Amino acid sequence: MTIIKSAQIIDGTGKPPFRADVLLKDDKISAIGSFPNKKADTVINGLGYYLVPGFIDVNTDSDHYLSLFTNPSQKDFLLQGVTTIIGGHCGSSLAPLLYGTLESIRKWTDINQINVDWHTIAELFKTLGQVKLGVNFGTLAGHSTIRRALIGEDLRDLTESELKIFQRILNQALEEGALGFSTGLGYAHSRLVPYNEIKALLPIVAKRGGVYTTHLRDETNGLLSSINETIKIARETGVKTLISHLRPLVGYEKEFENGLKLLEKSATDLNLHFDTYPFDTSIVPIYTLLPLWAQNGGLEIMAANLSDPSIKNRIIPELPNLKENDLVVAQAIGNDYLVGKTLGEFAANRNLDLKSGLLELMTVANLKALIFYKNVNLELVIKSLTSEKALLASNAASLEESDKYIKHERGYNTFPRYLEINKTIPLETAIKKITLIPAEKFNLRGRGVIKEGNFADLALISDNKIQQVLVSGQIAVSEGKSRNIAAGRILRGRG
Ligand SMILES: [Zn+2]
Repeated sequence: MTIIKSAQIIDGTGKPPFRADVLLKDDKISAIGSFPNKKADTVINGLGYYLVPGFIDVNTDSDHYLSLFTNPSQKDFLLQGVTTIIGGHCGSSLAPLLYGTLESIRKWTDINQINVDWHTIAELFKTLGQVKLGVNFGTLAGHSTIRRALIGEDLRDLTESELKIFQRILNQALEEGALGFSTGLGYAHSRLVPYNEIKALLPIVAKRGGVYTTHLRDETNGLLSSINETIKIARETGVKTLISHLRPLVGYEKEFENGLKLLEKSATDLNLHFDTYPFDTSIVPIYTLLPLWAQNGGLEIMAANLSDPSIKNRIIPELPNLKENDLVVAQAIGNDYLVGKTLGEFAANRNLDLKSGLLELMTVANLKALIFYKNVNLELVIKSLTSEKALLASNAASLEESDKYIKHERGYNTFPRYLEINKTIPLETAIKKITLIPAEKFNLRGRGVIKEGNFADLALISDNKIQQVLVSGQIAVSEGKSRNIAAGRILRGRG
């Protein structure tokens, strides 16, 4: 038995804070009230702190970077008060795998770091069960992961029988506990995927109460039509929908503002949200800076094209106009010496202007680099977080310290920063957005609210600093330091 005494409780429902003691038995909250004489094995003094439900990060990349395996403590999330993370976004998930290859996450990491001993979602969960995660983890099934296993690197429509097989695979994935389905329509392999293919798949997700998350087809000029496409499909299939990492890209602020208005006006009757983060940099594969026509046929082919002088000359003028510090190399597998270099430094070293320098950087890295790309309008993204349609997500991984990459602040400071910058909405409303609302959206039963019978996923916070974190009743962070107790669980959908 554990007792947390005299904390100000913000229970996740949006109700104003109230003072109470909270009793925990095993992994659950057993009582909330006043228990001055109660004896407990562990007494946590909550005086001067808010006690909140553990935060839920609805869009993380710890699966894409394989850090669930290489850094299972997921410490950077725990230290932010995050007790649950959801992966499998942007069309790419760790399962189901038809042939046991992780090809669809290769744009984020070196896929040879681990041995893949699973195919299905059920088998993945079995493997993850042995990994001993520090946080709870649930996943979507990725559209591109399944599609590329079905038809390889071909860019074509599915045949009717392929679509039937797809539906069967998706159905099984949901049955085995996937929380939903994701697309990465903005990526080279999916940009041409027809609306009707997605529409034929989503009713399976809707029927099981799963969530559809989508990395939009176009986040720039075509943002509005991409949002329209998403609203249309949510309406036609009735699926709960989450637009991934929707943020105002520099130069496309008008499109973003119009898109936000559209969501707030046309989607009032729909369970439709977007997730976003309060930072001005994206983390993107470097190839996504190529003009669209040059993003074709897989990394090897794209990289080979860069050495063709006539293609090169066509590409250079179409590259984005960057300033010296707008781009920093975050990771470059096989070319670690590039890590931390800005575009300005790289170009100056080679006596190139910035556009030629960018193309040279792409060539040298064989397109296998991740970059921090300063392309988000910070003021506008912070404002958008107050929208009822907005959810908070790091869209990042919890990574170990390494000289092979640099960590983005999003991976370790998204939630404290969100609380810190929030000046406009009451704290209990801000907390609801990162607890109850995502828990309901993803059907995370028994989580997201402090109430009797719920899991004891909790955080004690003060001045937006995370003091103590409990995962299923076990103290995972104490006095701001992680304790490596691996109490995370696999969260399965209704199935
Ligand atoms: Zn994405």
